[in-house]
Amino acid sequence: MTEVSLKSADGLATHLTPENFEALRAGLRGTLNFSGEAAYHLSRTIWNAMIDRKPAAIVRAVGAADVIRTVNFAREHGLLLAVRGGGHNIAGNAVCEGGLMLDLTPMKSVRIDPASRTARVEPGVTLGEFDREAQAFGLATPLGINSTTGVAGLTLGGGFGWLSRSFGLTVDNLLSADVVTADGALVRASEKENPDLFWAIRGGGGNFGVVTSFEFKLHPVGPDVIAGLIVHPATNARELLAEYRRIVLAAPDGLTCWVVLRKAPPLPFLPTEVHGTDVLVFAMCWAGDLESGKKAVAPLKALGKPYADIVGPMPFAAWQAAFDPLLVPGARNYWKSHDFTELKDEVIDLVLDSTRRAPSPDCEAFIGHLGGAVNRVPANATAYPHRDAEFILNVHTRWNDAADDSRCIVWARELFDKAAKYATGGVYVNFMPEDETARVRVGAYGPNYERLAKLKAKYDPTNIFRHNQNIRPAE
Ligand SMILES: Cc1cc2nc3c(=O)[nH]c(=O)nc-3n(C[C@H](O)[C@H](O)[C@H](O)COP(=O)(O)OP(=O)(O)OC[C@H]3O[C@@H](n4cnc5c(N)ncnc54)[C@H](O)[C@@H]3O)c2cc1C
Repeated sequence: MTEVSLKSADGLATHLTPENFEALRAGLRGTLNFSGEAAYHLSRTIWNAMIDRKPAAIVRAVGAADVIRTVNFAREHGLLLAVRGGGHNIAGNAVCEGGLMLDLTPMKSVRIDPASRTARVEPGVTLGEFDREAQAFGLATPLGINSTTGVAGLTLGGGFGWLSRSFGLTVDNLLSADVVTADGALVRASEKENPDLFWAIRGGGGNFGVVTSFEFKLHPVGPDVIAGLIVHPATNARELLAEYRRIVLAAPDGLTCWVVLRKAPPLPFLPTEVHGTDVLVFAMCWAGDLESGKKAVAPLKALGKPYADIVGPMPFAAWQAAFDPLLVPGARNYWKSHDFTELKDEVIDLVLDSTRRAPSPDCEAFIGHLGGAVNRVPANATAYPHRDAEFILNVHTRWNDAADDSRCIVWARELFDKAAKYATGGVYVNFMPEDETARVRVGAYGPNYERLAKLKAKYDPTNIFRHNQNIRPAE
């Protein structure tokens, strides 16, 4: 190997010798990989195919010691550092161009303690892997809706899914974390140890260090829940959404129902003539006593004349993976997202008008419903501040051909811009694409930003962890 040119943290070029890399490699349990190696391409390939970056070198860590060595190496040589958990983030910050990438995907351990109802989870674990371990004991914690997402990035941004109205955000169920900070120290963050760091990592993303282990609280869930989809023709969507709004705002915490507006995918339970037509989908889950669940979903099942209704008892772990076939990696994706305290008629009209004109069959508008336990936590209790958001609108643009980039992105921005005046101005950091850095201060963190910036100055004064939705250290 000859001298390698890398990008430094300040964007300039820096040169390292083969001896520098050999010294790093010699201390690792995991591997150090370069372009041309299969492991290098595995690590740099992430969910969103829009992101095609080539780090100069990649460490595939297998334990906390590898993380410490990599952080120290990056800091001592002033390198640009990117950190990958599950590699699902839309912005693609898990991979950097020209710098050093720290890939945590080999760190796969999950240890469930059924007696204390807690879990220890390493940062390479996906939601599906965590769910499978926890469900063996009839336990779960709130996670997201696509089982291939990484636990690490989801948790550090906040995290919500089908269980959140009952049990809160993923971060509301985080008990502690082991964190490698910018100085290479491994510290414990919890309510008792480094509570300021614990506050910051519950929503502050990867800004404060690399988490090498998460400890979660678990809840009895399943094995069966009441869940599934009701698919309606979009022609009646306006009336259906007005009813939906009324029903979910009065629903018990145990019921969560989200909405998807898109062209019907070729789902096996839909008649073939429906495939490709505009549909409104209610996706719902009740995780509790099944008889109560049947009553809770009844008002949604009574609405209109759907093409299909497959809501009923099913294993929780299966429902957690139900959307996976529509969300496989490898497509080009661009998202825009708004929080709302209420779903006004004007927003519904905008969404319906826009989704009818969607530029590709896989584009969709998605409306998530939060509230419940999520919104009973004060906005300053954790770094995640959006405890007033009752609904989240995501414009999910998804397509395959790079030639369609511009028209797909324009479509997403247009709906986003028109809906802005009805939104809170807040945005969930994990739904922000890479071009939204201007939304970090006010949109993502709002009232919590100043405290986060001060903690950034304490834990990462030189902003080593900058390849993310970045919180700058306070002056
Ligand atoms: C199809 C799809 C569905 C989704 N559904 C949901 C959902 O239902 N609910 C929800 O809340 N979110 C959802 N998300 C958003 C998801 O929470 C984010 O994409 C999240 O960042 C994914 O985490 P990851 O580890 O896979 O990502 P990565 O891309 O690996 O990481 C994202 C960022 O997190 C940081 N990071 C990752 N691991 C660590 C670590 N161990 N220590 C420090 N920093 C780290 C890094 O800055 C990294 O750039 C969804 C995303 C997609 C693409």
